[in-house]
Amino acid sequence: MRKQIAAANWKMNKSLEEGKSLLEEILSSVESVPSNHEVVFAVPYPYLYPLQSIVEGKNNIFLSAQNCHHKTAGAFTGEVAVDMIASIGLKFCVVGHSERREYFAESNAVLADKVNLCLTKEITPIFCCGEPLDIREAGAQNQYVEQQLQESLFHLDEVAIQKVVIAYEPIWAIGTGKTASSAQAQEMHAHIRSVLSKKYGTEVAAEISILYGGSVKGANAVELFSQPDVDGGLVGGASLVAQEFIQIIKALQ
Ligand code: PEP
Repeated sequence: MRKQIAAANWKMNKSLEEGKSLLEEILSSVESVPSNHEVVFAVPYPYLYPLQSIVEGKNNIFLSAQNCHHKTAGAFTGEVAVDMIASIGLKFCVVGHSERREYFAESNAVLADKVNLCLTKEITPIFCCGEPLDIREAGAQNQYVEQQLQESLFHLDEVAIQKVVIAYEPIWAIGTGKTASSAQAQEMHAHIRSVLSKKYGTEVAAEISILYGGSVKGANAVELFSQPDVDGGLVGGASLVAQEFIQIIKALQ
């Protein structure tokens, strides 16, 4: 059965001490995470190793990288390889966040390489997709997201695709305070699942977690997560506030 996931994306925020306090405060309120749920913290690279001891031994709670490079190793100053992430025991990596696509020109083809590298190291890619505002206003969001999936994921076979978590994040809702309505989220998640079904069959599609991202907060998480095809959230701003993220974790269905 597919997992329900609350994933925090701290982006480029917090000092190590602040991050440590935030993580400890959240975990002190989350005694146990049931086996059909996962709680993931995508923290800045330098904090992955020092924060690991805090989540170690806690069931279904994991750290994640926010990105990885699309080559295995070499002369790429400032970059971090999937092998490095795997070598410190990580199990998750965010791939293709819209900020990476926009500010670092990451293409669907490059993201396909990143997904492949993650899977070879048994790291679950949290693959982000989602349309900008002009595409939504033109009513072309379904085709836009479908193309992102086709070009970055659909080379995978039916075993590999089930190891991917998809995060639908409409760009117009990220960090803007403008959440997609639960109906809009469900509509796109159902579309994504139907595209997955067409390619891989309904049983495979039913196993893939599809998270919603875009101004998820404690106050709207229950409503969003109660949609049948919304399997939790990828959360930016609200994941930096302990009480907000605790509420979001508790909203997992
Ligand atoms: C994100 O960065 O993935 C995100 C969804 O941000 P926010 O929750 O702040 O909109």
